[in-house]
Amino acid sequence: MMEPTREQLVILAEQLAETAAEEIDCEAVLSCVSAYLEIAEASKTLPPELDAVAQHLKVCPECLEEYQALVRALAPE
Ligand SMILES: [Zn+2]
Repeated sequence: MMEPTREQLVILAEQLAETAAEEIDCEAVLSCVSAYLEIAEASKTLPPELDAVAQHLKVCPECLEEYQALVRALAPE
């Protein structure tokens, strides 16, 4: 998998923003969860474009687990 550029992440976030939180599915979340994490880490405050992902992570344990695995992978022990 190629590393997305910052610009690609923003485009991805904008595309996600067009998807209502209740409509976003696991496939969409998992495809962008690393971008979500990167943006969240970089900006500290989450852009509203990523609300749909944040909402999904609150209601979907599977995606949350994937997200937390990424967080653990990035966090220094
Ligand atoms: Zn999910």
